[in-house]
Amino acid sequence: MRRKLVAGNWKMNGSRAALAELDAIAAAAAAAPDVDVEIAVPFTLIAAAADRAPALAIGAEDVHEADSGAHTGCVSAGMVKEAGACFTIVGHSERRADQHETSHDAWAKAAAARRQGLRVILCCGETEAERDADRAERVVQAQIEKSVPDNADGSWFTLAYEPRWAIGTGRTPTLDEIAAIHAIARAKLRMLIGDAAAGVRILYGGSVTGANAAAILATANVDGALVGGASLTADKFVPIIEAAA
Ligand code: PGA
Repeated sequence: MRRKLVAGNWKMNGSRAALAELDAIAAAAAAAPDVDVEIAVPFTLIAAAADRAPALAIGAEDVHEADSGAHTGCVSAGMVKEAGACFTIVGHSERRADQHETSHDAWAKAAAARRQGLRVILCCGETEAERDADRAERVVQAQIEKSVPDNADGSWFTLAYEPRWAIGTGRTPTLDEIAAIHAIARAKLRMLIGDAAAGVRILYGGSVTGANAAAILATANVDGALVGGASLTADKFVPIIEAAA
């Protein structure tokens, strides 16, 4: 009942020339009608990406929590929507680490995105030290509790579990570890939003590749993937879309 979602996150990569990759990605998405394919790109590329690939869902990697105002250098949800974005990532672990964003910030950003009619992919996930201390489940539960809006439902809200130590490292949790966190995430969502939790997709992110995607996507409660490095080029991203189909 939950459609698979394969979402790319270009981070601070890409250029107008790199948007040529979207042609083959859009073709792969068209060939996989049961899979939703989305790509978050830097602010500066949103408009051009949306023009180049109108059939793909183009998104932002972050938005400000306010609708407008005196926030030099920041970009609002309404602005990215006007540029052509239909979703945004919030609470990515790189923003938590580099910009000291909290789960409360992710909550406020998700709410701002919702006000402007954007869909949201909200990220959570433990650090390596937290996993080593056997605290991964508690950390993820607490992040979800503090960041998921009360009105979240699957029509606009997606959760992404991304263990920080797996991002860009080539390391992934075992399938059992992924299943365990996704199960507790689903249970936590049920406590917070009730029956709506059943419709919320939970993505796994962190070193997803064409080689491991099929196994990860077949894991219980994994409804898709959030893909960084392997989303930058069609030759790496298309096999992940195919694995989800
Ligand atoms: P990665 O990044 O696929 O390069 O590990 C995932 C993410 O940060 O969303």
